[in-house]
Amino acid sequence: MKRLFLILFFLWGISASAQSVFKRTLKLMGSRFDISVVAENQQQADGYIDIAVEEITRIEKLISSWDANSQTSMINANAGIQPVIVDRELFNLIKRAVGLSKLTQGAFDISYASMDKIWKFDGSMEMMPTEEEIKQSVSKVGYQHIDLNENAGSVFLDTKGMKIGFGAIGKGYAADQAKERLKALGVQAGIINASGDMNTWGRQPNGELWNIAITNPLNKDNVFAMLPVDNQAIVTSGNYEKFVKFNGVRYAHIIDPRTGYPSTGIISVSVMAAKAELADALATSVFVMGKEVGLDFINQLNGVECIIIDEQGNINYSNLIKPKQ
Ligand code: ADP
Ligand code: MG
Repeated sequence: MKRLFLILFFLWGISASAQSVFKRTLKLMGSRFDISVVAENQQQADGYIDIAVEEITRIEKLISSWDANSQTSMINANAGIQPVIVDRELFNLIKRAVGLSKLTQGAFDISYASMDKIWKFDGSMEMMPTEEEIKQSVSKVGYQHIDLNENAGSVFLDTKGMKIGFGAIGKGYAADQAKERLKALGVQAGIINASGDMNTWGRQPNGELWNIAITNPLNKDNVFAMLPVDNQAIVTSGNYEKFVKFNGVRYAHIIDPRTGYPSTGIISVSVMAAKAELADALATSVFVMGKEVGLDFINQLNGVECIIIDEQGNINYSNLIKPKQ
């Protein structure tokens, strides 16, 4: 009898703590977000997801270039005029972005942003910009011209017309932050997916690792890899729709900050790393570097792997995730 009671008590214990995955899809930062958490019930999950949404919205306010009142817009409006004191969080994000520019020898550069005057990838471009226009625009680009004053906590873009933008790092940062907030609340597991920029933690309720599908952008129904992820970020960059074509050349929406010309040859890059912010920035950088240099670069970094799909549809893997032939 006592034993039966113990067994029943044990089973009750399991069912009381049964956990499931709850997911919410919504639009944040102008993009689709899918937030999944492991929780005991819908009500608990809703509470958690609300907090993630709050965190992402807060970050959006800080880094948005569309919102004229954001601190980022203040920095841009004061380019060539005066330094702007900003929140330490934004200061540190810009500092890390400049660090990533140094690491990638300028392939990644948040000051690429003034190029958006001449390159538009929303279908509105009818002519290739002239060389003169490109030269003009690119003269306003360069992370070396972002002056950071650690003591004052201020940021100064030293050239008039210069601009910064977080298009290639903001969603990754938001995914990382939302994850940290939820982990701090004791959420055991989840996935923050910011339109293909994701960070994950914990395991599925059945004890297995999360599996992330990598699709071929040339054929979205074709999942060519299912990757198990263990507390990792995985970011895919390369919106197949965002490009322009001139004289048979396909220009992607990622621009080489050193030449002012958009990158060519690659259609999608997926990067795995500990943080989505790093993976996001590196995915953009690999686009700019091109297939060979990009793979070589990723292979030299510890704890970072990548998958590159080129224009011909070839799939290229970094050393540690190369599938066995
Ligand atoms: P996705 O749009 O697929 O998320 P990315 O994360 O790589 O791709 O971000 C691309 C965006 O980053 C562009 O739309 C633009 O806003 C910005 N960007 C373009 N070129 C660069 C660059 N060389 N360095 C930093 N940001 C860039
Ligand atoms: Mg990116």
